[in-house]
Amino acid sequence: MRNYKLAAIPGDGIGPEVIDAGIEVLKALQACRGDFQISVQHFDWGSDYYRRNGRMMPENGLDQIRNMDAIYFGSAGDPDVPDHITLWGLRLAICQGFDQYANVRPARVLPGVSCPLAGYGPGDFDWVIVRENSEGEYAGVGGRAHQGHDAEVGMDVAVFTRSGVERIARFAFDLARTRPRKLLTMVTKSNAQRHGMVMWDSVFEKVRPDYPDVTMDKMLVDAMTTRMVLNPKSIDVVVASNLHADVLSDLAAALSGSLGIAPTANLNPGGNFPSMFEPIHGSAFDIMGKGVANPIGSFWSAVMMLEHLGEKAAAARLMTAIERVTAAGDAMPADLGGTATTGDVTAAVIAAINQENE
Ligand code: ATP
Repeated sequence: MRNYKLAAIPGDGIGPEVIDAGIEVLKALQACRGDFQISVQHFDWGSDYYRRNGRMMPENGLDQIRNMDAIYFGSAGDPDVPDHITLWGLRLAICQGFDQYANVRPARVLPGVSCPLAGYGPGDFDWVIVRENSEGEYAGVGGRAHQGHDAEVGMDVAVFTRSGVERIARFAFDLARTRPRKLLTMVTKSNAQRHGMVMWDSVFEKVRPDYPDVTMDKMLVDAMTTRMVLNPKSIDVVVASNLHADVLSDLAAALSGSLGIAPTANLNPGGNFPSMFEPIHGSAFDIMGKGVANPIGSFWSAVMMLEHLGEKAAAARLMTAIERVTAAGDAMPADLGGTATTGDVTAAVIAAINQENE
């Protein structure tokens, strides 16, 4: 029996609701397959922890989860705690501390879900957005000076290293190579950002000949938003810097029907550290505690986690169950136009998992 250690960090807002639902689904999957076991350890880190302790996680937090097989993360964000504290103190501390340099975000319209783009629906597009997740605009380099005076200045410096760009380029080409269309769109803004982004372009051009079977094209990020809306079928794998891909993937999630569906994986591809899986949405305080959060983003993140762990059959079974539930349409949460609660969606997905046995 394969045994996996999972660190659950539900975090803030609706994070605990969707992570609890995800763990329920994982337990159901484990029970019906019987060939692997997931031992979950919970960590109460986040904004409440910050209020009690003055930090988002303990000083030795990374050491506490270093030996886990995977991390299942909810969200970090709180109306009363500044965003830069919640983000840097937990999520980015884990992503950067564990060198999870490849952030992978699939986007497609699931069966039964309506696409906000007129004339498009399930099966019409199938994208994977690869986000550079360790440097760029999120390098944390910069500073403030002359605070409180007229001359006050605030600077954020985007840092692009040749090795950082090359490894994300190779990751994206390798991923594109595994997909039927083998298309890679490299997104940049090298007309305006004429140093780091020009280097980004040149590194991709240098790597490109190693992947003759992959077709690469290049887009400026502003033009990419238009292409996603006007010509979604022309896109397969997209790779972009930390900030650009963050923005593009929210657009991709919205085009897939709702932010509540979209999953993401923060990967340390070499396997030196655990990788982290999370729904793309944030803490959504407006719906917290109402039991209406859509758990599908959390379930789909669990699919990505199972794939990463090598449990391909279990991953496929969970994805099929999710798609059966959305296709049937009788357990749709509010953000997808239905009235189902988080618990209803969870129960429906568990029933669909068990049905596959019969
Ligand atoms: P944060 O500051 O943590 O990023 P946020 O509330 O600004 O959080 P999101 O949580 O990403 O941003 O969500 C924006 C809106 O989308 C929410 O207000 C909520 O109405 C909706 N939403 C997000 N996730 C879900 C979900 N899982 N189910 C239902 N609605 C959701």
